[in-house]
Amino acid sequence: MSEFCFGVGVGKISKKEISRRKNIARLHNIDFVVQAGNAGQCQCGRGCKLDACAIKRFWFAAPNQGEPHNMNIRKQVLAKV
Ligand SMILES: [Zn+2]
Repeated sequence: MSEFCFGVGVGKISKKEISRRKNIARLHNIDFVVQAGNAGQCQCGRGCKLDACAIKRFWFAAPNQGEPHNMNIRKQVLAKV
């Protein structure tokens, strides 16, 4: 099954905010994914190792169930972010 990704962002995000979004995702049986850097590149300009990069790329990932389900879950989740 493909994934429906939404709420994509790139930037600094606190551990507190990450856990808050993970909890929101869990309530909807979806994932909140966080990766350091952006698409394999350090984004903070220091050339740091990716797992240490202060800049993260993050998004919600849900099973792709087509419309209107996808837009409904997107709307419900983003309303809580
Ligand atoms: Zn970096």
